[in-house]
Amino acid sequence: MVKLTFDDKVVEADESWTILDAANQDGIYIPTICYHESLSPSGSCRICVVEIVTDGKPELTTACNYPVEAGLKVRTNSEKVMEARRLTMELLLAQRPHSAKIQELARKLGIEEPSFTLKEKECILCDLCVRACREIVDVEAITFIAQGKDQSVDEATVVHSAKKCIGCDSCAYVCPTEAITVEDFGDIRILNTPSGKLKFKLEKCKICGKYWAPKKQLGYIIRKWNLEPEIFDTCPDCRE
Ligand code: SF4
Repeated sequence: MVKLTFDDKVVEADESWTILDAANQDGIYIPTICYHESLSPSGSCRICVVEIVTDGKPELTTACNYPVEAGLKVRTNSEKVMEARRLTMELLLAQRPHSAKIQELARKLGIEEPSFTLKEKECILCDLCVRACREIVDVEAITFIAQGKDQSVDEATVVHSAKKCIGCDSCAYVCPTEAITVEDFGDIRILNTPSGKLKFKLEKCKICGKYWAPKKQLGYIIRKWNLEPEIFDTCPDCRE
């Protein structure tokens, strides 16, 4: 265990933790968007920025991917921190003004309207969907693609591979801005993504008749774990 300071509070943290882990463990609020406890941190949204003091010099860093150190001093709400978070939040709100999650976080930072306008985008490039697909589903069906005339990173978005995607909907589940959504209509699942719609046939439960999971997802699980195909003849409710 190591000791570090959050503002005026000394806390103990496991050496393997990040600043955000230590703050969460101690009930110290640091806002996040691109963080998910089951995924590796990326620091891409930068809303969890904090000020750390090393060798007497303060600097800004993202809390979600900065490891704790003995004696580290962390400022979670200094003027510099709040200014950086507000600027990031204004940018996100300008890009995705109708997202409930973005609106809620903006309000917490005292922002009702961004002070500038930007072209509205569906995807804020938080990278959560890419990490969920790669780290949890083990499929890697999503990539970042630069777009526009000059292939600018500002114009980048996520692109789903119709060939690789199995329709599991994990990416829609973690997406904080509803840029990816899923709808089931009878025996069809539609995955709405920034790069278009993907369609999947759903499997029907042999007992209750409910359409319950994409056939492609079940086929993937059967192959990956070498299971008997009959295991998915029934939905989880009827298997209990
Ligand atoms: S729905 Fe497709 S892209 Fe999304 S997490 Fe599942 S496999 Fe990946």
